[in-house]
Amino acid sequence: MHDPEALRSLHLKRFGADPAVFAAPGRVNLIGEHTDYAEGFVMPAAIDFATLAGISPRTDGKVVLFSENYGDELVYHAAALPSERTGHWSDYPLGVLAIFAGEGHKIPAFSLSLWGDVPLGSGLSSSAAVEVATAVAVESLLGIQYPGPVLARLCQRSENEFVGSSCGIMDQFISANGAKDHALLLDCRDLSFKLAPIPGDVALVIANTMVSHAITGGEYTSRRAQVEEAAAAIARHRPEVRFLRDATPEDLVKWGHEMSPEALKRARHVITENIRTVAAADALIHNDMKALGKLMAEAHQSYSKDFEASCAEADTMVGLAQDLPGLIGARLTGGGFGGCTVNLVQADQAQTFAASLGKRYEAATGIKPQIHICHASGGAHKIK
Ligand code: ADP
Ligand code: MG
Repeated sequence: MHDPEALRSLHLKRFGADPAVFAAPGRVNLIGEHTDYAEGFVMPAAIDFATLAGISPRTDGKVVLFSENYGDELVYHAAALPSERTGHWSDYPLGVLAIFAGEGHKIPAFSLSLWGDVPLGSGLSSSAAVEVATAVAVESLLGIQYPGPVLARLCQRSENEFVGSSCGIMDQFISANGAKDHALLLDCRDLSFKLAPIPGDVALVIANTMVSHAITGGEYTSRRAQVEEAAAAIARHRPEVRFLRDATPEDLVKWGHEMSPEALKRARHVITENIRTVAAADALIHNDMKALGKLMAEAHQSYSKDFEASCAEADTMVGLAQDLPGLIGARLTGGGFGGCTVNLVQADQAQTFAASLGKRYEAATGIKPQIHICHASGGAHKIK
């Protein structure tokens, strides 16, 4: 578990100054996959894994970045910060500084310590957690406080423009704006959002398949192109359809034959996933766990069969969860082709569920999975 007091004392020891400490969580997406760039809906929850940032001002004009996870420290002049990425972990905090500078803020001299327990590179968005933790820490030195949605957009820009990764807004948005014991239904068109309560007796069990089949990113690009092809085909008849967010299942019945078979299937996933995501928020709001589980099952089928973004291991992990006691719903979460499944599970059964799922998956695939039992947690905040 992340421990603010431990971060405080290591910062004090390293830099001789008592830091202000901030936390920003990782996240899991409950439903709404590949809907963000179609200006649709996603419904993530912040989890109780977080990145902590300790910050204290300096008087020597320097910016010093330290990551306890990497055991690595970098020193810059505040007036001459790098303007380009190097592929190092420091790109993530430096990107935030570059975006803040671009917004007209003079970056002051400071020491920043980062330490997180969000598993790195596992699809739980340690990158957004680092960006948002850095951003709220630097805000405190600047004496400013952007509204959460604005801060999220700045952090997304730092990842898009500085780090060079073409992520959507979801990860930074939920890290900045998440609420304890709630999922967040986000409209990626205008960033309006609605909180949906997750009952206290429900745990989020995140099961890492330990495989990643789309490391080159080529699949992401081709899916995106197919989604755009489908939207363009519908727009020839209904010009008001700018994105698949605006399209309906009837549009596919009428105009599906004018698309490639792949584009039709991808569009069917995105259009129905948007409907499911809004329905899933309603199910949570009405405490209808049965309906939620059914929507998650349908979402997984659609992601696997129509979007073809699952893989054998993820289908296995979802399949093996189905008859375990306590399961409400299971599906592959994240960009696809591997990564983690998310399982909503009765909290008092979560330990046994996780142990049984781990054993079953290892027996079926020979791979030992990492399984985390999480709860929906609050967004970025100051610890003290
Ligand atoms: P994910 O967001 O799914 O965890 P990414 O590849 O997007 O995976 O981001 C992981 C990267 O974020 C790491 O390789 C590292 O560069 C950076 N990062 C995450 N956590 C930390 C940390 N505590 N300290 C320094 N860098 C971190
Ligand atoms: Mg990331």
